[in-house]
Amino acid sequence: MTASAIREPHARPAEFARLTQLFERLKRSAFDGIGISRLAYSDKESEALDIIEAEALQIGLTTERDAAANLVATLPGTNENLPFIACGSHLDSVPQGGNYDGAAGVVAALMVLARMKQENIRPRRTVKLFALRGEESARFGKPYLGSSCLFGALKPSDLRIAAQNDSRLLGDCMRTVGVEVDRIARGEALLEPSSIAAWIELHIEQGPVLIARNLPVGIVTGIRGNIRHRAVECVGEAGHSGAVPRWLRHDAVFGMCDLIANLDSHWRTLLERGHDLVLTSGIVSTDSEVNAIARIPEIVRFAFEIRSQSRATLEAAYNLFLSECAAVSKERGVAFRFDERVEAAGAAMDKGWVERLTTAAAALGLPSETIPSGAGHDAAVFANAGVPSAMIFVRNQNGSHNPREAMEISDLIAGVDVMHAAIREAAMQ
Ligand SMILES: [Zn+2]
Repeated sequence: MTASAIREPHARPAEFARLTQLFERLKRSAFDGIGISRLAYSDKESEALDIIEAEALQIGLTTERDAAANLVATLPGTNENLPFIACGSHLDSVPQGGNYDGAAGVVAALMVLARMKQENIRPRRTVKLFALRGEESARFGKPYLGSSCLFGALKPSDLRIAAQNDSRLLGDCMRTVGVEVDRIARGEALLEPSSIAAWIELHIEQGPVLIARNLPVGIVTGIRGNIRHRAVECVGEAGHSGAVPRWLRHDAVFGMCDLIANLDSHWRTLLERGHDLVLTSGIVSTDSEVNAIARIPEIVRFAFEIRSQSRATLEAAYNLFLSECAAVSKERGVAFRFDERVEAAGAAMDKGWVERLTTAAAALGLPSETIPSGAGHDAAVFANAGVPSAMIFVRNQNGSHNPREAMEISDLIAGVDVMHAAIREAAMQ
């Protein structure tokens, strides 16, 4: 089969229709007039779990809600002693989000189980779908809540976080939707990592790479970790813009610009050497109260963020940042002041599964492109708990976390094809 044959909408007409209807139902249940608002541990989130559960029951799967009120649908294997294969994603969304972030992965997992059921396959290993809650940090400021519960990774203090929209406490919102909060508060693991053979998650790509390369799917190699400073200050000396000559200036903005330009050239070099890195300074400001067109700025504040799949690359880039700050300080007569360094761990995807998915894609005639994930996903929680994890990205237009997310159903079917082939093979072993 060629890639274009897979992208042909009528390659699987029944599945195409089923998927279209399912997304339509999900959209109807959480449309807020602009986008999808299906916040973590809300009634709308529960409604989405109900929609998926009804479909799973219709397919002939058994379903349950775990102690964290996540939905679990099961296709039983013939050997219950073997670790099971888990797949799925999250069903919550950001406010005014799109219809595919998270939901695409849950629906894809459902289609994989539906196909295996339809093929009358009795796999050796049990395959389970997880429709997770609370992946987005939008409501409680903390991501991966549903998947963290699986491994007993929430702290009692997390349950006292107040929602940003209505100030209700996370623990109370959890209890309302059926979470056994006492068990979560005790840090009880609901799953033993060694009981899970793999976590496979399909997700829409939230960046522009697959669109730019004209590829329906990509295989994720890892989830980038990051190092951040919320506010770095470059401090120089204020002065009259007309009166102070260049050689006597200590211009904070020029200092910061030198720093960013130097870091950009290091970034290019690291990329040329094959390292994975992105660098962003997303907030830059001088104080408009005291500064003016005719005043040399004394202080500029800026945010600093680097992301990489590699811990070593992150540290190397961070050290370059510090040494460039020192060099620019000398050159421009400015000083840099740093707030607390904040970091988030990345996650490597399992090499064996990356290979399995890549091979499955190639066998289907799909170009098998590997791609890093710049955004975090539940897969990071599974991977960091020690579960071999892998992700498939599906092409998606207009970015994510907005109502304009646009994924073609035929691209999703290509993703399901890859996931189905790989899971079916692994479930037989
Ligand atoms: Zn997501």
